Amino acid sequence: MNMNFDFNNPTRILFGAGKLNELGDQAMPGKKAMVIISNGKSTKENGYLDRTLAQLERANVESVVWNGIMENPLKEAVMEGAAFAKDNGCDFLVALGGGAVLDSSVAISAMAANEGDLWDYVCGGTGKGKMLKNNGLPIVTITTTAGTGSEINCWGVISNLETKEKIGFGDPRLTPVLAVVDPELMRTVPPKYTAYQGFDALFHNTEVMMSKGVNILSETIALSAIEHIAKYLPRAVKDGNDLEAREHVAYGSTMAGMTMQLTSTTAQHSMEHSMSAYHHNLPHGAGLIMISKAFAEFFIERHACDEQFIKMAKAMGIEDADKPEDFITALVNLQEACGVADLRMSDYGFTPEESMTLAKGARSMQGGLFLANPCEMTDEDCAGIFEKSYR
Ligand SMILES: [Zn+2]
Repeated sequence: MNMNFDFNNPTRILFGAGKLNELGDQAMPGKKAMVIISNGKSTKENGYLDRTLAQLERANVESVVWNGIMENPLKEAVMEGAAFAKDNGCDFLVALGGGAVLDSSVAISAMAANEGDLWDYVCGGTGKGKMLKNNGLPIVTITTTAGTGSEINCWGVISNLETKEKIGFGDPRLTPVLAVVDPELMRTVPPKYTAYQGFDALFHNTEVMMSKGVNILSETIALSAIEHIAKYLPRAVKDGNDLEAREHVAYGSTMAGMTMQLTSTTAQHSMEHSMSAYHHNLPHGAGLIMISKAFAEFFIERHACDEQFIKMAKAMGIEDADKPEDFITALVNLQEACGVADLRMSDYGFTPEESMTLAKGARSMQGGLFLANPCEMTDEDCAGIFEKSYR
């Protein structure tokens, strides 16, 4: 067991049902907030926006609302949002929404305080990899989904349609200062998305467990998160108003955000980003689910980290697990219990012929995550996983 770690988790987390009502009691990191929401209707219709604005008023700050974020956020939206923050003299951001909104806020924070184009600062792909000159605007996050863990980390994934890239962007200076994780705000997420997002959270943790960089602390956090997600996600999918289930899944998701500060995820995430860069309508969690079985089997066949798979299978409810294949059993059981065992790549326009394109895309967009894999994975191996997953 690796006993070395470097843990910097500077976000204050207000966790639990009803916590949004305490936002107004907190010291805010500025005088004028840009409240970022998605371009959909739900944040307004569910009353979350009004409640947030009322809390900000109670905290004695001015606020302006900007609703320009879509699912799989685009570079253009980030640049528009940054211009909005500058034009309105906002000195901090309140990101209210799901992963897309939280991810975008990191990039908007950077570009509201720095010159040029986002791709000047993106590392990987066609990004120019420049360092940010200035700190970004401080960020407060209020998450309405349990999935990305973005509420407490300084990374966001942004798509560039022009270059067909989907790349993680971040800087430790962009870490949110305050995160409100209130499972009451998650009750309205539809079953299908509850499942996709819950599996995203699950895979953040399972990938940390498979990672070469796993250590005693990241493993402890990840195993706790896996246990709670596996036990409660089927209930949250079945009944969105099951607040107890929502709370446990949210815990697993936020803990994933934390354990990812310690240990990187693996190439499963690079592979999915390549999939949704080429097929923009594919939800991130759905893409991960599609390749997850073949991805784990690749390492199981090579005995790359047998013990880790056994520990995960136990955390997922197979108490007498004694072989790595038990993880696959637990994974498939959970997918079936959540109604997502039959997702098909062909439904999103994939063809078997593009496996190598996807593999090369994964390497060029996020090659770094391949280094976290527990054993080597070539482009041919990677294409083989896509082929095996195809249906
Ligand atoms: Zn993810």
